[in-house]
Amino acid sequence: MSERIFNFSSGPAAMPLPVLERAQREILSIYDSGMSVMEISHRSKIFESILTKAELGIRELLGVPLDYRILFLQGGASLQFSMIPMNFLTNGIAEYVITGSWGKKALAEAAMVGRVNTIFSSEKSGFCSVPVAGEVLVSADATYVHYTSNETIDGVQFGYELRAGTVPVVCDMSSDILSKPLEIENYALIYAGAQKNIGPSGATVVIIRDEMLERVASGLPSVLDYRALALNNSMVNTPNTWAIYMIGLVCDWLGEQGGLAAMEIRNNEKAAVLYEAIDSSDGYYVGHAETSARSVMNVTFRLPTEELEDKFCSEATSNGLDGLRGHRSVGGIRASIYNAFPRAGVDALVDFMKDFALRNG
Ligand SMILES: *Cc1c(COP(=O)(O)O)cnc(C)c1O
Repeated sequence: MSERIFNFSSGPAAMPLPVLERAQREILSIYDSGMSVMEISHRSKIFESILTKAELGIRELLGVPLDYRILFLQGGASLQFSMIPMNFLTNGIAEYVITGSWGKKALAEAAMVGRVNTIFSSEKSGFCSVPVAGEVLVSADATYVHYTSNETIDGVQFGYELRAGTVPVVCDMSSDILSKPLEIENYALIYAGAQKNIGPSGATVVIIRDEMLERVASGLPSVLDYRALALNNSMVNTPNTWAIYMIGLVCDWLGEQGGLAAMEIRNNEKAAVLYEAIDSSDGYYVGHAETSARSVMNVTFRLPTEELEDKFCSEATSNGLDGLRGHRSVGGIRASIYNAFPRAGVDALVDFMKDFALRNG
């Protein structure tokens, strides 16, 4: 197979083709060094410039103020589930808003470290909704409040940014960061595994307000200590040089696309086309999320039977539409359509859905 297909994977996910092509051109010799980015020292001037480029790329796209640090860490978003309470939850209670499977995991990991309280959960109704703005009441003395802006597995997304007065807001944005503009000042800490919307797996972006660094617990291993990581410019140890390089290229590409406001328009259009195909199917396809909580990034739906879902996935794969099977924990169909996923692939899926429903109705 030399042709590229439409890859609906949830993560690692489709990368922008021009980014892959540029990496291909530069793979043997980065910036005329005669060495691959995978071979150069992370202490070299060249890598320093690569790290700065990735950082500036994110800073410019998101408008990250100067009193925030941008870190590139390892251990995935999952390690952040533990690192956040290890760094900040030595005292008090952290409050968690649970709208899906990842938030539930984050809570379970935090509960192993400190005291936590669930202040909202949509689990009983099957993780198909998010609270309406103003519904979640964060205690004024909470150590921090944690939520997940987009639940990748369930396909539910906040349509607004949670605010909590003076309580630090911590947000897992693994699957929707860089998909639209944000007001960074709302957050004390944002984290995101890179492999959905920022680059390859193996790097986690953390955007942290300087003032939070002063609250870091003492006595932590330095690779888990945000203050040590910030002081050492994400290089307490060898970072994932390849992933950081790729993140810089993805940021360039996003800039060329017109930045995050332009991405938001395109992402909304892609999602609208797909949800319209679900809604106009006379109940053949049933969306998982309530309409007000529908994710622009991960579109989740069911068919009349599991047998039909199996048939749908295997026929889709034969038609060059791959990665549509829902997460093993929830089943169904999931189309992940992050920044890099092309509109043409969404249109191809819609055509396939219409044809499949006609043939299997
Ligand atoms: C994928 C994902 C994670 C887990 O990411 P890892 O990098 O595999 O640890 C956590 N949260 C959300 C919202 C995700 O989409």
